[in-house]
Amino acid sequence: MARLTISPSPQTFFPQTFLTKAYETAILTTTAGNFVTKAFFKEHVQFMRKALEEARKAGKQGEVPVGAILIDHDRNILSKGRNECIRHNDPTAHAEIVAIRKAARLSKNYRLLDTTLYVTIEPCLMCAGAILQARIKKLVFGTFEPKGGVFGSLYNVADDIRFNHKIKVISGILAEECRNLMQDFFLNRRCGEVPKWP
Ligand SMILES: [Zn+2]
Repeated sequence: MARLTISPSPQTFFPQTFLTKAYETAILTTTAGNFVTKAFFKEHVQFMRKALEEARKAGKQGEVPVGAILIDHDRNILSKGRNECIRHNDPTAHAEIVAIRKAARLSKNYRLLDTTLYVTIEPCLMCAGAILQARIKKLVFGTFEPKGGVFGSLYNVADDIRFNHKIKVISGILAEECRNLMQDFFLNRRCGEVPKWP
């Protein structure tokens, strides 16, 4: 009769590389309910932190604190962007547009195929248009924007099958930090404590 033996540790059965792989491919859920593997989650957090750095810089300049990072297929940062609407008297100078324009100029290509855009806040209608026009492959954002976001709040561009370009969307990465930054900014602004851009 076969006997069941219990190993004292999983390492007896599985080599360390297998265990690491299994750990890295474990599925996690973001605060917005998207599923990502642990390895990708760590990577998303790493790039979202860089987008948050840009958002903080925007906030210090009196702009709405939104930041964006665009990376290529090999995870190299192509460009960074932050809100610059007031500074440039430009209603289109949202963080996403700034990052997309820089990357397109640098790569000398109006299509940004196989890229991922990280942005601290859910993009607006204008930025969604630019994201689709640039053919960005994946969008990762921090927190929802209930008054203007079009990737789940007012509407979901990613779910509209009539659009030519399909984009993968992950939300809820460092959502609390992204949201707190916005809330603190508007709270301070009401008290007149945010310095004005010259
Ligand atoms: Zn926008």
